[in-house]
Amino acid sequence: MVRFTPSQPSLLGETPETVGRLVASSGQPPFRTKQLMEWLYKRRAVDFAEMTNLSADLREWLGANFRLNPARLVLLKRASDITEKLLLELEDRSLVETVLIRYPQRGVGVETARSTICVSSQVGCAYGCRFCASGLDGWKRNLTAAEIVAQFLHICYVEEKRRGRPPKDALPFDNVVFMGMGEPLANYDSVMTAIRALNAPWGLGFGARRITVSTSGLVPEILRLADEPVQFRLAVSLHGATNDVRTQIMPVNRKYPLESLVPAVKTFAERRGRMVTLEYILIEDVNDAFAQAEALTGIARELRAHVNLIPYNRVEGLPWKRPNLQRQEAFARILRDAAVPHTIRKEKGHDIDAACGQLRLRTEKDRLRFNHH
Ligand code: SAH
Ligand code: SF4
Repeated sequence: MVRFTPSQPSLLGETPETVGRLVASSGQPPFRTKQLMEWLYKRRAVDFAEMTNLSADLREWLGANFRLNPARLVLLKRASDITEKLLLELEDRSLVETVLIRYPQRGVGVETARSTICVSSQVGCAYGCRFCASGLDGWKRNLTAAEIVAQFLHICYVEEKRRGRPPKDALPFDNVVFMGMGEPLANYDSVMTAIRALNAPWGLGFGARRITVSTSGLVPEILRLADEPVQFRLAVSLHGATNDVRTQIMPVNRKYPLESLVPAVKTFAERRGRMVTLEYILIEDVNDAFAQAEALTGIARELRAHVNLIPYNRVEGLPWKRPNLQRQEAFARILRDAAVPHTIRKEKGHDIDAACGQLRLRTEKDRLRFNHH
């Protein structure tokens, strides 16, 4: 596996214990650790120089040995009224996108609208699902835990610069979904480390139930997830309800076919006592047959899962498209008649899907544009 080693490590994703050891090694008293963690996560400093209650020699030592945030914001782009994209450049010049999606709420201003952030876990993706832009150029590397935490913080920096700090310990987002570029469970340790920093009281203190990890279905890792201490949610990208259909569009189904995937998800759901979401993109003439809806019903009932139907979003260079509205509704009706809880994303959600889960191509195009300026 390719391991990326930054020239100057970041403290993001480190725990109070590991930061404490560093502080001790620099000859500083232990109370500095708490101050430093607070600057990172509660006050969200963008520079070590801001950390004015630390001694000057500690600030200097930190600046000489560490990078505060390993990602640099290179482009902030309002994709539509409801989505905003942050293009971040990493130390090796890889680019990742983080998306902020605001769900407009009737009767409330944008200030209080709920928002979800969609974060990336890898540069590219090795799983090559046929419909997905993230896998088109293959896999480059895993993100480090610091690079994942950096995405949460950059969203905070951007929002707080615009509107000031939200009251008390609130954060400018209500949900975090690992549905950006990459397969989070193929970068297991870094994703879990980042989730801990997001959730821990010493970190961002963000509620576990509002964190969703989405996977294409890596069975051993799903089983491992069931024992994780942080109670985040799980979404499984199903997209095919029989092996023949699923294998056609998701090569990972050869390695972990439905007869091994479904029991693993069941184990997770039972051990956690929490409802899992099955994601099902509707692609015309590929997976939208009624027989698929019936098979999907069977799986959802066995897992007591919620089904999220997502009309396919076109990806440049790929032939797939979404079925028409009538077909989408007929498909959904089969779930409804079987009392399977489900949602179908309406047209308004188009931007959301476009922003989240299919980032790679646009990222590379952005780079070209960016380099020309
Ligand atoms: N690798 C993980 C997480 C990233 S993909 C996974 O596969 O679950 C996040 C979601 O976006 C997945 O459900 C994926 O299937 C979906 N997605 C990818 N391309 C899409 C497209 N063109 N239209 C709609 N959803 C898409
Ligand atoms: Fe990778 Fe998920 Fe896209 Fe499949 S859907 S290629 S696993 S990012």
